[in-house]
Amino acid sequence: MSLSGKTAIVTGSNSGIGLGVAHELARAGADVVLNSFTDRDEDHKLAEDMAAQHGVKVRYIKADMSKGDECRALIETAGACDILVNNAGIQHVARIEEFPVGKWDAIIAINLSSTFHTSAAALPMMRKAGWGRIVNIASAHGLTASPFKSAYVAAKHGIVGFTKVTALETAEEPITCNAICPGYVLTPLVEAQIPDQMKTHDMDRETVIREVMLDRQPSKEFATVEEIGGTAVFLCSDAAKQITGTTISVDGGWTAL
Ligand code: NAD
Repeated sequence: MSLSGKTAIVTGSNSGIGLGVAHELARAGADVVLNSFTDRDEDHKLAEDMAAQHGVKVRYIKADMSKGDECRALIETAGACDILVNNAGIQHVARIEEFPVGKWDAIIAINLSSTFHTSAAALPMMRKAGWGRIVNIASAHGLTASPFKSAYVAAKHGIVGFTKVTALETAEEPITCNAICPGYVLTPLVEAQIPDQMKTHDMDRETVIREVMLDRQPSKEFATVEEIGGTAVFLCSDAAKQITGTTISVDGGWTAL
């Protein structure tokens, strides 16, 4: 599955799933653009290290995915976009009536609206290149729900719907658009939820992981960033050219329950 000669942009890729997906795309030979809203030496170092490890070109471009103009500027600045992975995301847990409006707006902007803006900027480039792959990182929460995650669940369901529309608008072209729906992956986003869950359930860390988190996953294991990345590489391969407008769950059986 060589992606040599392709340029992949991965939003929100200085940690967690985005970084893992970027590594797998680079391992498959793609040049990579890493992104987040920060501009630290360590962000650029990630790009240098990835380039050295996989022998491909890797750049880091700062752009805040909560801002539509910066989403579009990311794609324009990269100058090429054969593969777009919409991964940037944040999470907040609260009852609907207590949900901070600012958090609602930020979750919808970063998780969902950024996907619209980057796709709108990338599609003309893909059409010009005569080839394109869009992979949207949704979630098991794009197909099911949990209480207290209203904005996140709404955004992820929105991504699944937007994925289908993008696929239909590109169906007769050599462009595909699909969503990956991960279950739990032990990234900084999930780590940040553990202390609250420990307090809420009066449990220690290991019990929260076993009885609250992995209880939803029949496999009783976290998925890994490499497994999400491998799925993205498959969706970008020629073997997957008839796969468009669908979701692939990487959730240990969560959504089969
Ligand atoms: P993470 O916190 O490690 O990564 C989130 C990434 O988004 C980081 O690189 C962060 O810098 C970036 N980001 C946040 N705000 C941004 C902004 N305004 N502009 C640009 N980048 C921004 O978390 P993760 O678990 O790797 O999450 C990545 C994606 O995977 C998210 O969309 C998340 O919803 C999804 N997801 C995660 C899990 C899981 O269990 N970890 C499960 C399903 C879906």
